[in-house]
Amino acid sequence: MSANLKTETVLTQAGHYIGRETGSIVPPIQPSTTFARNEKGELYSSDHMYARDQSVNSEMAESVLCELEGGASCKLFASGMAAATALVQTLRPGDRLVVPSIMYWSLRAWMISFCEDWGISLAFYDPTDEEDLEKIVNEAPTKMLWVESPANPTWEIVDIEKAAKIAHSAGAQLVTDSTVSTPLLTKPLELGADFVFHSATKYINGHSDVVAGALITAKEDTRWEKVCSIRAQQGGILGPFESWLLLRGMRTMHLRVERACENAIAIAQHFENFSGVLQVLYPGLTSHPNHETAVRQMRGGFGGMLSIRFNGGKEKTAHIMGRLKHFVRATSLGGVESLVEHRALIEGDGTLVPDDLLRFSIGIENVADLIQDIEKAIQA
Ligand code: PLP
Repeated sequence: MSANLKTETVLTQAGHYIGRETGSIVPPIQPSTTFARNEKGELYSSDHMYARDQSVNSEMAESVLCELEGGASCKLFASGMAAATALVQTLRPGDRLVVPSIMYWSLRAWMISFCEDWGISLAFYDPTDEEDLEKIVNEAPTKMLWVESPANPTWEIVDIEKAAKIAHSAGAQLVTDSTVSTPLLTKPLELGADFVFHSATKYINGHSDVVAGALITAKEDTRWEKVCSIRAQQGGILGPFESWLLLRGMRTMHLRVERACENAIAIAQHFENFSGVLQVLYPGLTSHPNHETAVRQMRGGFGGMLSIRFNGGKEKTAHIMGRLKHFVRATSLGGVESLVEHRALIEGDGTLVPDDLLRFSIGIENVADLIQDIEKAIQA
């Protein structure tokens, strides 16, 4: 792709494809599982032999994501979990992994059981306490530090530049889960992170019709070689159709994310001091404890995710959720349509999420409609 293009152009043109045979401007879906050799037994393309690890459609989407994040290489996976777990699986018995106590709960639960099974030491830092990360990393030799920013579902912001310095001076590598920040609002590799992870199921796809994960590396080091080998051997690649849909979704990511950010801050500000609301959690509000870090670290908006805590506890909160007409009650986030979820009920026993909290994924609808929907549900 040509150098120095602005993000909007990179995304909209998504590789500037023009088919050599017909001049088609949309790339075809390439479903072939295997690739032929010529009379001498040589492959037509040295990059394509077998589709468990090589997909023309994935490569197109990977090159756009790699450029957006400013990385050395990008790999797509069959889900966000497949991508994140591939990176953690590069750790060896005896290594130490440091992760936030507040993060995507399924990944946290998997890390606990994986680390226990494989003799990897797992330590948690409190992302609400700015000093805790450094303290925990330095308590013992650490190989990998995990940051999720904003952190699901209370949207703490971790200072990535500071975390990278702490990780590197401890001899560790920094991974950032940038799913909620999208590849547009924060650039973790520029801030010193070694790897960026996205559940591409969310904003990158943006239409709630593809499950996918992406890893981007700052450099192609030995850990990256292991990641590539895990994907190649375990076959967690994204299928051609899903890769094609992902690329199509990415063409409008900048517009979707911009609108979601505008809608989210308008909703956050509207309900911050609203009767019946205990607290609005959104990094764009000056009342948010990490607002200053968010301003420094996020460009062009504070994301489309926010949570609202309501007066009246669990029952009242569940009742408000039940009365919403336009927010779809569903898990996930980052699609064009607005979703709502009572996270504590979904996460169940052992959840750290307050039971008076609703998590909202703000979509790109008319913001007045969304505000009116929440107002009516609170007032009913
Ligand atoms: N990270 C975050 C922040 C998420 O919200 C999710 C999914 O909800 C994941 C990771 C896992 O991604 P996937 O569902 O694509 O496997």
